[in-house]
Amino acid sequence: MWNRLVTVLGTFLVLLGVSLTAHAADNAASGKVKTVASFSVLGDMVKNVGGDRVEVTTLVGPNGDAHVFNPTPADARTLASADIFFVNGLGFEGWMERLENASGFKGALVVTSGGVMPIAMRAEEGHDHGNEADEPDQAEAEDHDAYAGQVSDPHAWQNLFNGKIYVTNIRDALIAVDPDGADVYEANAAKYLAAIDAEDQAVKAAIASLPKARRKIITSHDAFGYFGNAYGLEIIAPEGVSTESEASAQDVAKIIRQIREEKIPAVFLENITDRRLLDQIAKETGAKIGGVLYSDALSDKDGPAPTYLDMFRHNAGALTAALSS
Ligand code: ZN
Repeated sequence: MWNRLVTVLGTFLVLLGVSLTAHAADNAASGKVKTVASFSVLGDMVKNVGGDRVEVTTLVGPNGDAHVFNPTPADARTLASADIFFVNGLGFEGWMERLENASGFKGALVVTSGGVMPIAMRAEEGHDHGNEADEPDQAEAEDHDAYAGQVSDPHAWQNLFNGKIYVTNIRDALIAVDPDGADVYEANAAKYLAAIDAEDQAVKAAIASLPKARRKIITSHDAFGYFGNAYGLEIIAPEGVSTESEASAQDVAKIIRQIREEKIPAVFLENITDRRLLDQIAKETGAKIGGVLYSDALSDKDGPAPTYLDMFRHNAGALTAALSS
């Protein structure tokens, strides 16, 4: 398997070879801090904190699934010329190390979830990841080292309290790379943090207004563990914390039983996953489809969740509408 990995990396490096030097000159030209964000939620946060001083390129865009992303040579070229690479961490971007190595990236790698209290992946999911056990890739091996063997749920941004930690990390990283902009970054972050606080209160109030017995939902992959813990909602998902593993027939049968026994009122689709499995579950149980929740990606700019804060406004609104009575 190492041979295969080396071959893949080798091909990638050859593809990149010519362009690496050409891009080094671009940074000075724009005068802006060049940042790359691994996925759309981070891209929005970086824009809010960086404002006009930064250029933001997002690798996994609106409605994209970062769990199964395949970086292209063009992504590697983008990264090669960046000053900062913002990633979520917690194993979310399994492709990250490969891309970073292949690109020859020399800037600052910033793990924006640094400092959050991770939720350990639910125990039963540990055995459920297909071929991962016999073929660990390099990124995964390194993740395991970094987190002392613990596998964490990566979706920490789904708690707005954690979102504030992300924003603080982004602010500090921008100041470190561009000290002249410190006042701007401080002011932008302060304003943004206050808006996140206000939304946090609003989501808490919205979920607290729901009858306790109805605070249970089904989503397709397990992206709302942090949301559920923070705001008091029970989330049941046939797929694990990554979209890479498909739900087994047993998992689905178990969930169908659970919906019937516990009278779970609604099933929610996600913007990044296929809806067929949930349509089937809804049909077999009579649970209603409560709408679409934005989990691992924002919507495009004309959709209902083009920013991180809009994502929470939309999700809280959809949950309230489906579960209130
Ligand atoms: Zn996810």
